[in-house]
Amino acid sequence: MHETGLAASVVATVDSYRKKHKGSRVVQFEVGYGELLGLDGKALYDGLSEGLPGTRAVVNRTKTEFRCRRCGASWSPDGKKGSLKIPKDALVGGQSPLRFFPELYPAYVRCPGCGSADVRLRDGAGLKVTKVVLGRVD
Ligand SMILES: [Zn+2]
Repeated sequence: MHETGLAASVVATVDSYRKKHKGSRVVQFEVGYGELLGLDGKALYDGLSEGLPGTRAVVNRTKTEFRCRRCGASWSPDGKKGSLKIPKDALVGGQSPLRFFPELYPAYVRCPGCGSADVRLRDGAGLKVTKVVLGRVD
């Protein structure tokens, strides 16, 4: 499952942060993922909780936001229907290819204002650790 692999890499990142900062354990950590990834937040949370037992994991979804370079409009795909069109033959296992390759978005996104394909992703595609709280056992 996609979430399991991502959770494993987040767990490795958090654990290497802990080692680098000489923490004895991770008390809490927070992860933000872009909604463009189409992840199952619950599955991601479960993977993180299993990977770092006894730690409080917080998972936040980041809204996708595009900005048109031609007319300056900015929008989120869920708010403007038709701005993100994935042809059926581009689907990967019935799912959006952007879930696996978010960097492909320019091929599928058009500005809802002027129709331009010269669109920049402002936020909502990445997966990042936003906070780590370490504890020490004396
Ligand atoms: Zn535009």
